Amino acid sequence: MVTGGWSELGRDLDEAHRRAAGAAAAGLADPALGSLRLSGEGVDVLAEAAVSSATPFLRAPLLARLAAARALHPEDGGSCPTCRLPAPCPTARALFGGS
Ligand SMILES: [Zn+2]
Repeated sequence: MVTGGWSELGRDLDEAHRRAAGAAAAGLADPALGSLRLSGEGVDVLAEAAVSSATPFLRAPLLARLAAARALHPEDGGSCPTCRLPAPCPTARALFGGS
């Protein structure tokens, strides 16, 4: 039984989203922007909206490729049909975690 898997990936992506929103807020408030620099309570909301708008476009190709890799390297079911090693194979462990 593999621990982690898709739920762990989801948590990692959510954490990446949170960090991206923080980075976007810092970028919007960057003094290097000069007169275009944003400040105030709206910065966090704008940053979250910007990252939320972009995230599906960033996640979709990544998740599609991970799904294709998962089909080739199942996390359970005896042995990996691609690697011919006991499941989860090293590729599945690298992609989806587990012990
Ligand atoms: Zn494999």
